[in-house]
Amino acid sequence: MINAVLQNPKAFKSILETVIDAVITTDSMGKILFVNHSTTQLFGYSTDELIGQSIELLMPNNHRRHHASYMQNYKQTGQKKVIGIGRKIDAKKKNGEMFPCWLSLTHFKINGDDFFTGIIKDYSELEQAHQELAELNQNLEQKVKEKTAELEIALQKEKELNHLKSKFLTLASHEFKTPLATILSSTILIEKHGRNANTFSDAQEKHVERIKRSVNLLNEIIEEFINLEKIEKNKIDIKQQEFNLYDFLNDCIGLLSVLKKEGQIVELNCPEHLLVHSDYDLSLFVLMNLLSNAIKYSKEQQKIVVNVTVEDQVLIHVIDQGIGIPHQNQQFIFERFYRSDNSSNVDGTGIGLHIAKRYANLLGGDVSFTSEENKGSHFIFSMPK
Ligand code: ADP
Repeated sequence: MINAVLQNPKAFKSILETVIDAVITTDSMGKILFVNHSTTQLFGYSTDELIGQSIELLMPNNHRRHHASYMQNYKQTGQKKVIGIGRKIDAKKKNGEMFPCWLSLTHFKINGDDFFTGIIKDYSELEQAHQELAELNQNLEQKVKEKTAELEIALQKEKELNHLKSKFLTLASHEFKTPLATILSSTILIEKHGRNANTFSDAQEKHVERIKRSVNLLNEIIEEFINLEKIEKNKIDIKQQEFNLYDFLNDCIGLLSVLKKEGQIVELNCPEHLLVHSDYDLSLFVLMNLLSNAIKYSKEQQKIVVNVTVEDQVLIHVIDQGIGIPHQNQQFIFERFYRSDNSSNVDGTGIGLHIAKRYANLLGGDVSFTSEENKGSHFIFSMPK
């Protein structure tokens, strides 16, 4: 069956006629001998208008010249530029409209005569898509350039702001220290004279205490700012030393006993001879922060427990039954200046935990916690053994 079809010239013609691309056959002089249906559709000529015409009819004027010399060259040298390779060219429709197309050209001989068949694929849509893609790419590149420039400006601004902020903090912290020290020493003198002269009323005593407490709070805030500044400028010196953890925790609890409210007790459970190797002052800062928070955020009569467990690391647990940290605030609690929604009526700056965690990290450990609002918090300071 298939052989019968292949031996039938009409069948061959039908195959060529129904090819989707334009098929054109010429003789060696470029005279058109055959065109299929798609050729007439694509170029807008009827079959009769094309048969016998030169192939140059379908070419833009500036290509005609090249075509003639190309054919000449191929016949003399056999050098192929398009034949068997294919290439993108411009073609011309009957109405003069130019369009890009892909030309695949083959050469064959019958009885010593040369013939050429070209298959032409309309490239307009693809070309347009390419162009649109190129434009999109260009736009995208432009946008990326603009955004990069904007980002660079924003980054520069942020750097300047950070620099200003650092300058302000350092300046303010140091400038505030001297007047605060004067206020504190004068208050202590007033207190002493008043007591000596027996002229001190209860109300005066209460106010002097308030001044002292406020000055101490301000001093703490200033210390926190200075510490923060040091961390951000990588100016923390770590001095490793061996110390007894039990003594260390006892010292810390002792230092904070002035902060305790009525009926608050701090229970310590720690092996008495556990030695750790770390920076004493930085560890003290971390623990003082956790413990002072436990005291601050617990009510009168509420107990605070400090437990020590030893696993891969030494874990110091600070457990309170205080106000706890609301669930929605927990993920931000180590950010600078962040305070939970329920802590607004307790004095604080939201810096301590941030510094504590960074110090703990510098020491090869960490600070983590679990907490439930109105039930209490459990902070863990882990340090290498
Ligand atoms: P602050 O000076 O505000 O206490 P911190 O950085 O030490 O700053 O703590 C950040 C915030 O974390 C606090 O403002 C408080 O909302 C919450 N917080 C820390 N510790 C506790 C705790 N033990 N119980 C409840 N809330 C706590």
